[in-house]
Amino acid sequence: MSRTDDDTWDITEGVGATALSVARARATETGAECPLYLDPYAHFFVEAAVEAGWRSPFLDQDPVRAQAMAAYIASRTKFFDEFFTTAGANGLDQAVILAAGLDTRAWRLPWISGTTVYEIDQPKVLEFKERVLAEHRAKPAAGYVAVAVDLRHDWPTALRENGFDPSIPTAWSAEGLLPYLPAAAQDSLFEQIDQLSAPGSRLSVEAFGETFYSAEQLARRQERMAQARRDAAEAGGPELPDVTRLWYMEARTDVEKWLTERGWEVTATSAVDLMAHYKRPAPDDLEDPVPDTVLLDAHKL
Ligand code: SAM
Repeated sequence: MSRTDDDTWDITEGVGATALSVARARATETGAECPLYLDPYAHFFVEAAVEAGWRSPFLDQDPVRAQAMAAYIASRTKFFDEFFTTAGANGLDQAVILAAGLDTRAWRLPWISGTTVYEIDQPKVLEFKERVLAEHRAKPAAGYVAVAVDLRHDWPTALRENGFDPSIPTAWSAEGLLPYLPAAAQDSLFEQIDQLSAPGSRLSVEAFGETFYSAEQLARRQERMAQARRDAAEAGGPELPDVTRLWYMEARTDVEKWLTERGWEVTATSAVDLMAHYKRPAPDDLEDPVPDTVLLDAHKL
């Protein structure tokens, strides 16, 4: 399961399956008594993957930790939903969702008329998504363009060839992505976003902090993961994937600082504050309850 420079994946494999885990969390939130948002398509993806033989792994054997992670994903989803809605309300009608996975914002958000949403992800991930949505006759709520390209490759050319216009302001998002990119690819990603962003563009990022990439936290996470894998095996459940092996644990550029130095005005909200804001607080008596992230909302002046 370790990473290689040019690895590819289907939706049920390695990095691809992380998109299914997020879809499963969104399906659960949608069915909750008081959901933060509604994603009526999320459960279709989970069902289609299960039909294709995917055995949905247990989330976490520790219900408090699983609950904290679910609250984190719900808050994060809401943050990016609000980001795009606000960008539209400010007249931005071009959006790029990087590493879109099974994100259904192009189908479910109230986009302003004339909006085009570009989604970038690996080919098999986008193929699976389009097939499942077509089977359920889902119609995008904006112009929709799938751009099947690896973000470690020349994605700006693919984006332009698919109609992206760098001369008009763009709303960008990078959610659930950065640890899956090598540090150098992360740096060039932000260089390229900056180059492709006309003044007035907006960018939202789930940025992972120093603690997230620290050896100490990785060791604690791997220990918990090993225990969860043993518990899952004992309970006869499907093998629990070790997501930590999909991440590039390398020192990173501070995205907030980098953007600020290049003239972006950045608002940063820690995961813990975001969750408190949405009344889904992280438990304060749990070690590493949620990933050490900040949610950035940046505006290019
Ligand atoms: N952003 C989506 C969401 O929050 O629902 C998906 C998040 S999922 C955790 C990670 C996604 O990143 C997967 O869909 C995966 O295929 C995509 N991804 C990771 N590395 C990528 C790369 N190098 N090129 C394109 N997509 C990538």
